[in-house]
Amino acid sequence: RTVLGIETSCDDTGAAIVDSEGHILGEALHSQTSTHNLTGGIVPNVAKELHAKNVEMVVEQALDDAQMRLQDVDALAVTVKPGLIMSLRVGLRHAQKLCQSSGLPLIPIHHMEAHALTARMIDKIEFPFLVLLASGGHCLLAVAKGIDDFELLGSSLDTAPGEAFDKTARELNLFQLPRFEGLSGGVAVERLAREGNPHAYPRIHVMTSVANCNFSFTGLKISARRQILREYQRQGLATHELLPQAADICAWFQFNLLYHIARRLQRAFIFAEMHEICGDKKTLVVSGGVASNSYIRGKLSGLCETYGYRLVCPPAKLCTDNGIMIAWNGMEKLLNGRDFSQDPDGVDVQARSPFGINRSKEVSNSF
Ligand code: ATP
Ligand code: FE
Repeated sequence: RTVLGIETSCDDTGAAIVDSEGHILGEALHSQTSTHNLTGGIVPNVAKELHAKNVEMVVEQALDDAQMRLQDVDALAVTVKPGLIMSLRVGLRHAQKLCQSSGLPLIPIHHMEAHALTARMIDKIEFPFLVLLASGGHCLLAVAKGIDDFELLGSSLDTAPGEAFDKTARELNLFQLPRFEGLSGGVAVERLAREGNPHAYPRIHVMTSVANCNFSFTGLKISARRQILREYQRQGLATHELLPQAADICAWFQFNLLYHIARRLQRAFIFAEMHEICGDKKTLVVSGGVASNSYIRGKLSGLCETYGYRLVCPPAKLCTDNGIMIAWNGMEKLLNGRDFSQDPDGVDVQARSPFGINRSKEVSNSF
């Protein structure tokens, strides 16, 4: 069996076809990153226009790549929540059009659930497992109990980690450097951080007096901004120039962000132990764009070893947005007999959507 997946929730137009064994039969992706880097962030209207311009082409490319026709697939999966309304709508409308012409069933997909289950495509991880999703719009720590059954242990109370990476890269003018052109802020910061000292500046303390699994990245973002401005003043440089200390700032910012994530994870491991959540097979899945960061992966792998967890991270290109994860999530729903007899035209998009049952209060009360 095969599913065609379409993703347009944010700034990537993606399409892919996967089979029930998790083989990627065809894929295509159009990234808008280089456009949005020029405007200082995603402008929803621009994102929508670019999706509208590219969605048809991307779907055709994926089908060509698989050497398949639309009639050859068994279902069409499309992201309907959460995300930018205007962007989501482009993907859904195109999927609805394809369903009308082919009679295929439509499978509506939750973007964050798709991020969470991508790992099961490459590694047959069994439920339940712990999952950390760190991306451009979210930071979620949850227990995955089934393909559409999640329990939320904690989430970001403000900014998302990817957004903090992007903002820091922009403040440092990294996109002016040819070596970072077209890359996301996260990748730019990660690469430059390799040349810097993570302890060049004082530690940033985040939520140290709150014992739960929630996150906060606004403090990190503001601390980085202040440090950058301080260095510009000290060096007597204009804020559009490049700082000689940029590598140190990247390394220091990345270390402090990792440290905060690691502390919250540590608490989740203890909570999971107290409530016997994961049984003997203790697995942590880390996904979402920020999970493609190899420094963060490496350090979290050490932490997992200490707590007896197996760490599973999808390959980098499956951590950031893509059509493959949407197709795979559709496939999991198809294989598990979910009902898709509803009229495709009755499906709608949603900007926000909760992720599972919220157990974060219980986590707070346990410590
Ligand atoms: P969400 O999934 O929360 O709706 P999104 O879909 O925009 O948001 P993703 O595509 O999953 O986010 O991830 C994009 C984010 O990941 C960007 O903010 C980007 O800077 C960040 N990112 C990508 N690669 C890296 C990296 N190597 N290190 C850190 N951050 C990274
Ligand atoms: Fe995403």
